[in-house]
Amino acid sequence: MEAKYYQSLPDGKVRCTLCPHECIIKPGKSGICRIRHNSNGVLIAESYQLYSALHFDPVEKKPLYHFYPGKEILSLGSVGCNLHCNWCQNYDISQKGVENDDKLTHMLPETLVKMARIQKNSIGIAYTYNEPSISIESVIETARLCKENGLKNVMVTNGYIGEQAMTDYLELIDAFNIDVKAFREDIYQKYTGSKLEHVLKNIILAKKAGKHVELTYLVVTDINDKLEQFIELVNWIANETGKDTVLHISRYFPRYKLDNAPTSAIKLQLLAEKALETLDFVYLGNIYSGEFSNTRCPTCKSTLVTRKGYSVTINDDCKSGICPECKTKIFIDD
Ligand code: SF4
Repeated sequence: MEAKYYQSLPDGKVRCTLCPHECIIKPGKSGICRIRHNSNGVLIAESYQLYSALHFDPVEKKPLYHFYPGKEILSLGSVGCNLHCNWCQNYDISQKGVENDDKLTHMLPETLVKMARIQKNSIGIAYTYNEPSISIESVIETARLCKENGLKNVMVTNGYIGEQAMTDYLELIDAFNIDVKAFREDIYQKYTGSKLEHVLKNIILAKKAGKHVELTYLVVTDINDKLEQFIELVNWIANETGKDTVLHISRYFPRYKLDNAPTSAIKLQLLAEKALETLDFVYLGNIYSGEFSNTRCPTCKSTLVTRKGYSVTINDDCKSGICPECKTKIFIDD
Protein backbone atom coordinates (compact mmCIF):
# COMPACT_ATOMS: atom_id res chain seq x y z
CA MET A 1 0.00 0.00 0.00
CA GLU A 2 1.21 3.53 -0.77
CA ALA A 3 2.14 5.25 2.47
CA LYS A 4 0.76 8.54 3.66
CA TYR A 5 2.92 11.24 5.29
CA TYR A 6 5.64 11.68 2.66
CA GLN A 7 6.87 14.10 0.03
CA SER A 8 8.42 13.37 -3.36
CA LEU A 9 11.92 14.77 -3.97
CA PRO A 10 14.11 15.01 -7.10
CA ASP A 11 15.79 11.86 -8.48
CA GLY A 12 13.08 9.54 -7.20
CA LYS A 13 13.91 10.18 -3.55
CA VAL A 14 11.18 10.69 -0.93
CA ARG A 15 11.06 12.35 2.50
CA CYS A 16 8.96 10.45 5.04
CA THR A 17 7.40 12.85 7.55
CA LEU A 18 5.75 10.27 9.79
CA CYS A 19 8.29 10.58 12.59
CA PRO A 20 10.87 13.22 13.55
CA HIS A 21 13.67 11.34 11.76
CA GLU A 22 12.19 12.62 8.47
CA CYS A 23 14.23 10.04 6.54
CA ILE A 24 15.20 10.92 3.00
CA ILE A 25 14.96 7.58 1.21
CA LYS A 26 16.52 6.72 -2.15
CA PRO A 27 14.73 4.39 -4.60
CA GLY A 28 15.14 0.76 -3.53
CA LYS A 29 15.95 1.70 0.10
CA SER A 30 13.95 1.74 3.36
CA GLY A 31 13.75 4.24 6.23
CA ILE A 32 15.32 3.76 9.66
CA CYS A 33 12.22 1.84 10.81
CA ARG A 34 12.78 -0.79 8.04
CA ILE A 35 9.11 -0.94 7.04
CA ARG A 36 8.67 2.14 4.84
CA HIS A 37 10.27 1.45 1.48
CA ASN A 38 10.89 3.62 -1.57
CA SER A 39 9.72 1.71 -4.64
CA ASN A 40 10.50 3.78 -7.75
CA GLY A 41 9.72 7.08 -6.04
CA VAL A 42 6.59 5.82 -4.22
CA LEU A 43 6.76 5.25 -0.45
CA ILE A 44 5.26 1.87 0.44
CA ALA A 45 3.94 1.01 3.92
CA GLU A 46 5.20 -2.56 3.88
CA SER A 47 3.68 -3.73 7.17
CA TYR A 48 0.18 -2.60 6.17
CA GLN A 49 -2.40 -4.93 7.82
CA LEU A 50 0.35 -7.43 8.75
CA TYR A 51 0.57 -8.62 12.36
CA SER A 52 3.20 -10.56 14.31
CA ALA A 53 1.06 -10.91 17.45
CA LEU A 54 -2.62 -10.93 18.28
CA HIS A 55 -3.72 -11.66 21.89
CA PHE A 56 -6.27 -10.65 24.46
CA ASP A 57 -4.30 -9.19 27.37
CA PRO A 58 -5.32 -7.62 30.65
CA VAL A 59 -5.25 -3.82 30.23
CA GLU A 60 -2.81 -3.87 33.17
CA LYS A 61 -0.25 -5.62 30.95
CA LYS A 62 0.11 -2.62 28.57
CA PRO A 63 0.76 -1.27 31.30
CA LEU A 64 -2.29 0.90 32.04
CA TYR A 65 -3.39 0.75 35.68
CA HIS A 66 -5.95 3.58 35.70
CA PHE A 67 -7.79 2.80 32.45
CA TYR A 68 -10.62 0.28 32.83
CA PRO A 69 -8.82 -1.77 35.50
CA GLY A 70 -9.53 -5.49 35.34
CA LYS A 71 -10.71 -5.44 31.70
CA GLU A 72 -9.14 -7.10 28.67
CA ILE A 73 -8.00 -5.66 25.35
CA LEU A 74 -7.15 -7.16 21.95
CA SER A 75 -3.43 -6.42 21.59
CA LEU A 76 -1.85 -6.18 18.14
CA GLY A 77 1.83 -6.17 17.21
CA SER A 78 3.52 -5.88 13.83
CA VAL A 79 7.23 -5.42 12.99
CA GLY A 80 9.71 -2.53 12.86
CA CYS A 81 10.66 0.41 15.06
CA ASN A 82 11.96 3.92 14.49
CA LEU A 83 14.23 3.61 17.56
CA HIS A 84 17.07 1.16 18.05
CA CYS A 85 17.39 0.92 21.84
CA ASN A 86 20.40 -1.20 22.75
CA TRP A 87 18.35 -2.96 25.43
CA CYS A 88 15.16 -3.51 23.39
CA GLN A 89 13.04 -6.11 25.20
CA ASN A 90 11.09 -6.94 21.98
CA TYR A 91 13.94 -6.80 19.46
CA ASP A 92 12.82 -10.02 17.75
CA ILE A 93 9.90 -8.12 16.20
CA SER A 94 10.99 -4.49 16.52
CA GLN A 95 14.39 -4.71 14.86
CA LYS A 96 13.25 -6.35 11.65
CA GLY A 97 11.18 -5.61 8.57
CA VAL A 98 8.58 -7.68 6.73
CA GLU A 99 11.04 -9.47 4.42
CA ASN A 100 11.28 -13.25 4.77
CA ASP A 101 8.73 -13.28 7.55
CA ASP A 102 6.12 -15.90 6.78
CA LYS A 103 4.82 -15.70 10.36
CA LEU A 104 3.07 -12.37 9.76
CA THR A 105 -0.71 -12.64 9.55
CA HIS A 106 -2.84 -10.44 7.32
CA MET A 107 -5.90 -9.13 9.17
CA LEU A 108 -8.58 -6.70 8.02
CA PRO A 109 -9.81 -3.96 10.39
CA GLU A 110 -13.35 -5.41 10.20
CA THR A 111 -12.09 -8.79 11.47
CA LEU A 112 -10.09 -7.23 14.30
CA VAL A 113 -12.98 -5.08 15.47
CA LYS A 114 -15.33 -8.06 15.35
CA MET A 115 -12.90 -10.05 17.52
CA ALA A 116 -12.62 -7.17 20.00
CA ARG A 117 -16.42 -6.85 20.18
CA ILE A 118 -17.31 -10.47 20.83
CA GLN A 119 -14.74 -11.16 23.56
CA LYS A 120 -16.35 -10.89 26.98
CA ASN A 121 -14.79 -8.18 29.14
CA SER A 122 -12.93 -6.59 26.19
CA ILE A 123 -12.81 -2.79 25.90
CA GLY A 124 -11.25 -2.52 22.44
CA ILE A 125 -7.86 -2.69 20.71
CA ALA A 126 -4.30 -1.89 21.82
CA TYR A 127 -1.58 -1.14 19.26
CA THR A 128 1.55 -2.40 21.00
CA TYR A 129 4.56 -4.82 21.20
CA ASN A 130 6.72 -3.29 18.42
CA GLU A 131 6.40 0.48 17.74
CA PRO A 132 2.83 0.86 16.46
CA SER A 133 2.98 4.53 15.42
CA ILE A 134 5.05 3.69 12.32
CA SER A 135 2.19 1.49 11.00
CA ILE A 136 -0.09 4.51 10.89
CA GLU A 137 -2.09 3.49 7.81
CA SER A 138 -3.26 0.24 9.49
CA VAL A 139 -3.70 1.82 12.91
CA ILE A 140 -5.82 4.74 11.71
CA GLU A 141 -8.15 2.50 9.67
CA THR A 142 -8.61 0.05 12.53
CA ALA A 143 -8.90 2.72 15.22
CA ARG A 144 -11.56 4.59 13.25
CA LEU A 145 -13.68 1.46 12.92
CA CYS A 146 -13.08 0.61 16.56
CA LYS A 147 -14.33 4.03 17.63
CA GLU A 148 -17.39 3.79 15.36
CA ASN A 149 -18.25 0.56 17.20
CA GLY A 150 -18.04 2.21 20.59
CA LEU A 151 -14.73 0.51 21.53
CA LYS A 152 -11.57 2.07 22.97
CA ASN A 153 -8.19 2.51 21.27
CA VAL A 154 -4.94 2.26 23.23
CA MET A 155 -1.43 2.98 21.94
CA VAL A 156 1.75 1.79 23.65
CA THR A 157 4.44 3.91 22.07
CA ASN A 158 7.91 5.41 22.29
CA GLY A 159 6.26 8.77 21.54
CA TYR A 160 8.64 9.51 18.65
CA ILE A 161 5.88 10.72 16.35
CA GLY A 162 5.78 13.57 13.83
CA GLU A 163 3.49 16.56 14.25
CA GLN A 164 0.79 15.71 11.68
CA ALA A 165 0.73 12.02 12.65
CA MET A 166 0.36 12.93 16.34
CA THR A 167 -2.56 15.25 15.52
CA ASP A 168 -4.24 12.40 13.62
CA TYR A 169 -3.64 9.89 16.43
CA LEU A 170 -5.09 12.29 19.00
CA GLU A 171 -8.43 12.17 17.16
CA LEU A 172 -8.74 8.40 17.61
CA ILE A 173 -6.59 7.09 20.46
CA ASP A 174 -8.21 7.17 23.92
CA ALA A 175 -5.24 6.16 26.05
CA PHE A 176 -1.47 6.21 25.62
CA ASN A 177 1.30 4.52 27.50
CA ILE A 178 4.42 6.43 26.48
CA ASP A 179 7.95 5.24 27.21
CA VAL A 180 10.50 7.69 28.51
CA LYS A 181 13.86 6.02 27.88
CA ALA A 182 15.98 8.50 29.86
CA PHE A 183 15.84 12.12 30.93
CA ARG A 184 19.03 13.13 29.08
CA GLU A 185 19.37 14.03 25.41
CA ASP A 186 22.84 12.45 25.17
CA ILE A 187 21.51 9.06 26.38
CA TYR A 188 18.59 9.23 23.95
CA GLN A 189 20.87 9.97 21.04
CA LYS A 190 23.58 7.47 21.95
CA TYR A 191 21.43 4.47 22.89
CA THR A 192 18.16 4.94 20.98
CA GLY A 193 19.10 7.05 17.94
CA SER A 194 16.38 9.61 18.68
CA LYS A 195 15.72 12.85 20.57
CA LEU A 196 14.02 13.23 23.94
CA GLU A 197 12.58 16.67 23.13
CA HIS A 198 10.08 15.20 20.61
CA VAL A 199 8.88 12.59 23.10
CA LEU A 200 8.31 15.17 25.84
CA LYS A 201 6.43 17.41 23.42
CA ASN A 202 4.09 14.57 22.46
CA ILE A 203 3.44 13.64 26.11
CA ILE A 204 2.32 17.22 26.74
CA LEU A 205 0.19 17.25 23.55
CA ALA A 206 -1.59 14.02 24.53
CA LYS A 207 -2.29 15.30 28.02
CA LYS A 208 -3.53 18.70 26.77
CA ALA A 209 -5.83 16.90 24.31
CA GLY A 210 -7.50 15.28 27.34
CA LYS A 211 -6.19 11.79 26.61
CA HIS A 212 -5.51 9.20 29.26
CA VAL A 213 -1.71 9.15 29.59
CA GLU A 214 0.47 6.82 31.65
CA LEU A 215 4.27 6.80 31.41
CA THR A 216 6.81 3.97 31.64
CA TYR A 217 10.47 4.32 32.65
CA LEU A 218 12.61 1.21 32.15
CA VAL A 219 15.52 1.54 34.58
CA VAL A 220 18.62 0.32 32.75
CA THR A 221 21.59 -0.46 34.98
CA ASP A 222 24.44 2.06 34.63
CA ILE A 223 22.67 3.96 31.84
CA ASN A 224 19.60 5.85 33.07
CA ASP A 225 19.50 4.79 36.74
CA LYS A 226 21.09 7.82 38.39
CA LEU A 227 18.86 9.24 41.12
CA GLU A 228 19.47 12.86 40.09
CA GLN A 229 18.33 12.24 36.51
CA PHE A 230 15.28 10.30 37.70
CA ILE A 231 14.21 13.03 40.11
CA GLU A 232 14.45 15.59 37.32
CA LEU A 233 12.07 13.43 35.28
CA VAL A 234 9.64 13.11 38.19
CA ASN A 235 9.65 16.90 38.69
CA TRP A 236 9.11 17.44 34.97
CA ILE A 237 6.09 15.11 35.06
CA ALA A 238 4.59 16.88 38.07
CA ASN A 239 5.10 20.32 36.53
CA GLU A 240 4.11 19.58 32.93
CA THR A 241 1.41 16.91 33.10
CA GLY A 242 0.35 16.95 36.75
CA LYS A 243 1.19 14.94 39.83
CA ASP A 244 -1.71 12.57 39.14
CA THR A 245 0.10 11.28 36.02
CA VAL A 246 0.69 7.56 36.48
CA LEU A 247 4.35 6.45 36.37
CA HIS A 248 5.37 2.82 35.85
CA ILE A 249 8.98 2.11 36.83
CA SER A 250 10.04 -1.05 35.09
CA ARG A 251 12.82 -3.57 35.66
CA TYR A 252 15.33 -4.12 32.84
CA PHE A 253 16.77 -7.52 31.94
CA PRO A 254 19.76 -8.02 29.58
CA ARG A 255 18.47 -8.24 26.00
CA TYR A 256 19.56 -7.51 22.45
CA LYS A 257 22.92 -5.64 22.47
CA LEU A 258 23.22 -4.91 26.19
CA ASP A 259 24.40 -7.28 28.92
CA ASN A 260 24.45 -4.91 31.91
CA ALA A 261 23.10 -6.59 35.05
CA PRO A 262 19.31 -6.63 35.62
CA THR A 263 18.08 -3.63 37.63
CA SER A 264 18.45 -4.37 41.32
CA ALA A 265 15.28 -4.71 43.35
CA ILE A 266 16.71 -2.28 45.93
CA LYS A 267 17.29 0.37 43.26
CA LEU A 268 13.73 0.01 41.97
CA GLN A 269 12.30 0.30 45.47
CA LEU A 270 14.37 3.42 46.13
CA LEU A 271 13.29 5.11 42.89
CA ALA A 272 9.64 4.25 43.50
CA GLU A 273 9.75 5.66 47.04
CA LYS A 274 11.40 8.85 45.76
CA ALA A 275 8.84 9.25 42.97
CA LEU A 276 5.99 8.78 45.41
CA GLU A 277 7.18 11.84 47.36
CA THR A 278 6.09 13.92 44.33
CA LEU A 279 3.63 11.89 42.25
CA ASP A 280 0.31 10.38 43.34
CA PHE A 281 0.52 7.04 41.51
CA VAL A 282 3.76 5.07 41.11
CA TYR A 283 4.02 1.38 40.22
CA LEU A 284 6.80 -1.14 39.75
CA GLY A 285 6.77 -3.47 36.75
CA ASN A 286 8.63 -6.65 35.67
CA ILE A 287 9.14 -7.51 39.34
CA TYR A 288 6.95 -8.77 42.15
CA SER A 289 5.95 -5.86 44.33
CA GLY A 290 2.82 -5.98 46.46
CA GLU A 291 3.29 -2.49 47.81
CA PHE A 292 3.85 -0.88 44.40
CA SER A 293 1.20 -2.91 42.54
CA ASN A 294 -1.87 -1.61 44.34
CA THR A 295 -3.64 1.70 43.81
CA ARG A 296 -3.92 3.75 46.97
CA CYS A 297 -5.74 6.98 47.64
CA PRO A 298 -3.05 9.71 47.54
CA THR A 299 -4.75 11.49 50.46
CA CYS A 300 -5.75 8.86 53.05
CA LYS A 301 -3.71 5.89 51.61
CA SER A 302 -6.74 3.52 51.56
CA THR A 303 -6.26 0.65 49.11
CA LEU A 304 -8.63 1.14 46.17
CA VAL A 305 -7.41 -1.46 43.67
CA THR A 306 -5.53 -4.62 44.68
CA ARG A 307 -3.39 -6.42 42.09
CA LYS A 308 -1.85 -9.86 42.39
CA GLY A 309 -0.11 -10.57 39.09
CA TYR A 310 -2.82 -9.68 36.58
CA SER A 311 -5.65 -10.49 38.96
CA VAL A 312 -7.38 -7.23 39.87
CA THR A 313 -9.81 -6.52 42.69
CA ILE A 314 -11.48 -3.12 42.76
CA ASN A 315 -12.92 -1.80 45.97
CA ASP A 316 -16.65 -1.68 45.07
CA ASP A 317 -17.15 1.63 46.81
CA CYS A 318 -14.48 3.25 44.62
CA LYS A 319 -16.10 2.54 41.27
CA SER A 320 -17.39 6.09 40.95
CA GLY A 321 -13.78 7.33 41.00
CA ILE A 322 -14.11 8.76 44.52
CA CYS A 323 -12.17 7.41 47.49
CA PRO A 324 -14.87 5.89 49.78
CA GLU A 325 -12.89 6.85 52.91
CA CYS A 326 -11.93 10.50 52.37
CA LYS A 327 -13.87 11.41 49.16
CA THR A 328 -10.74 12.38 47.19
CA LYS A 329 -11.38 12.25 43.40
CA ILE A 330 -9.21 9.45 42.00
CA PHE A 331 -7.79 9.59 38.48
CA ILE A 332 -9.30 6.39 37.05
CA ASP A 333 -11.08 6.13 33.67
CA ASP A 334 -13.81 3.49 33.76
S1 SF4 B 1 8.56 6.46 10.08
FE1 SF4 B 1 10.35 5.28 9.38
S2 SF4 B 1 10.82 6.02 7.31
FE2 SF4 B 1 9.44 7.50 8.26
S3 SF4 B 1 10.78 9.06 9.10
FE3 SF4 B 1 10.38 7.61 10.76
S4 SF4 B 1 12.02 6.09 10.66
FE4 SF4 B 1 12.06 7.24 8.74
